Amino acid sequence: MSQEFDVIVVGAGMVGAAVGYGLIREGRRVLMLDGEDTDFRAAKANFGLVWAHGKGQGQPQYQRLSLEAANDWPQFAAQLEAESGMPVAYEQKGGLYFCLSEKEFSDRAARIGAWHAQLPEFPVSTRMIGRNELERLLPNARLGKDVFGASLGSLDGHVNPLRLLAAMQAAFLRRGGTLRSGQKVTSIKLLAGGGFEVIAGARAARAERVLVSAGLGSAALGPMVGLDVPIRPQRGQLLVTERLAPLLPLPASGLRQTGEGTVMIGVTQEEVGFDLHTTSDAAVRLARKAVQILPDLAKARLVRQWACLRIMTPDGAPIYASSQACPGADIAICHSGVTLASFHAGAYARALAHGTRANTFDHFHHGRFDVQKVA
Ligand SMILES: Cc1cc2nc3c(=O)[nH]c(=O)nc-3n(C[C@H](O)[C@H](O)[C@H](O)COP(=O)(O)OP(=O)(O)OC[C@H]3O[C@@H](n4cnc5c(N)ncnc54)[C@H](O)[C@@H]3O)c2cc1C
Repeated sequence: MSQEFDVIVVGAGMVGAAVGYGLIREGRRVLMLDGEDTDFRAAKANFGLVWAHGKGQGQPQYQRLSLEAANDWPQFAAQLEAESGMPVAYEQKGGLYFCLSEKEFSDRAARIGAWHAQLPEFPVSTRMIGRNELERLLPNARLGKDVFGASLGSLDGHVNPLRLLAAMQAAFLRRGGTLRSGQKVTSIKLLAGGGFEVIAGARAARAERVLVSAGLGSAALGPMVGLDVPIRPQRGQLLVTERLAPLLPLPASGLRQTGEGTVMIGVTQEEVGFDLHTTSDAAVRLARKAVQILPDLAKARLVRQWACLRIMTPDGAPIYASSQACPGADIAICHSGVTLASFHAGAYARALAHGTRANTFDHFHHGRFDVQKVA
């Protein structure tokens, strides 16, 4: 049966927009359907780090994925900016993880050493640096007395996540993709003659393939195509200061200065279900830690606090799976969609476009969570 589209991407957030952009670059006819403004949208409220260092401890496949994605980011950003005509404010000057005592520093050194040892074939990209080197790296910042040192990942960086999302959608549209916003998908059906019918609002669309990439909305959509994935929300709160003079030339875990000068302070990890409230307790904890690292932040005015929900899998690694019950349906879920955007628009979209993905991403299938119960 001839279909109007080759692929329908359900959800045009951080993952769907990246894959949609990648698919259209591969010459596929793509429809992206995105939900309502009231949906949970991590794409619009995240921290903006492109971060590999320390990711995937005990999970070499996820470690490799993150490192390769970070490695690919400079080329991805340049290409995206050229194709969308929109600057995304990406910088790759490295990323810091501050250690606030000698013990924290030696624990971190051991952890990073073990992390590198998991993937000996990948060049070492992270090293420990002492306070003196930190002071040279951050000449405009007065470090708190407890700061002992840091780990420094050379592949890490940051980006303006709102511009990233807008640029991926704009580049997708420029290449002739179709994006329908405010179109919550309510049904995905495998057709008898092959292909899928997807219903969103009052409209139906058909395609040979379908990708479910609707963030937390995927839990309801996946089972429609035999992809019942175990995901849960995890709340992250963060704070934003007024604009400050240049202070942090490179981002840190939980602390980054944006191109506009505001400093973002984060991020909590809270198991509170679908609760988007902010709390004063979190604000106090985040502010206290930030001031311990950079005492001058105590003089800055806080202008915003918000909460958003991560899309978490049981082991924190992504889920990429093809449906056996409904051939042609796939699902993509992750909690580091900014970092992995280069992969989603690159190798992942290529594999999806050419139908070569099944074996390549086997490790990330959600079947890994099916534990046999011993009687
Ligand atoms: C506080 C916080 C900080 C973070 N910081 C970072 C960071 O520094 N670096 C990093 O790499 N990642 C970070 N993340 C994670 C990152 O934001 C997510 O991994 C990413 O947004 C996930 O993309 P997604 O497309 O799966 O989901 P989302 O970005 O949430 O997009 C899902 C989309 O699907 C749509 N949708 C839902 N249901 C339907 C439906 N039925 N029909 C049609 N459309 C639907 C929604 O409208 C939405 O647009 C952070 C997340 C949080 C919460």
